[in-house]
Amino acid sequence: MQREEDGYIIISCDFCGTDWDEVIPMIEGHRGSVMCLDCLKRAMDDAAPGGEEFTCTMCLQTFPGTVRHWSHPSPAPSPGLNPGAVICWSDIRQAAKAFHKDKEVDFRWDPAQYPVER
Ligand SMILES: [Zn+2]
Ligand SMILES: [Zn+2]
Repeated sequence: MQREEDGYIIISCDFCGTDWDEVIPMIEGHRGSVMCLDCLKRAMDDAAPGGEEFTCTMCLQTFPGTVRHWSHPSPAPSPGLNPGAVICWSDIRQAAKAFHKDKEVDFRWDPAQYPVER
């Protein structure tokens, strides 16, 4: 997400609250939502179905709880944190694809290990 401090725009990962230092790879969703690479890696492995229906912070769509999703299990309170930020499986895959393509980001994935359905 974005916030303003002393006239400066600060971008942070909605999911863990880390401020962007212009180095950490981050990816943007709708309405200024942002996810960092660390969170993406955790999301890829830990996303699971469960709970009530949810609205994805990245694409703003609402899904039933049966769709796999992820939110940070223990985010440290910080001004850049978006409490309750959640990402759907489809966006997790899209983000992985985007980071994979980015030559400046040291991240590769095997889509076969993270199929649309599993
Ligand atoms: Zn993060
Ligand atoms: Zn989504």
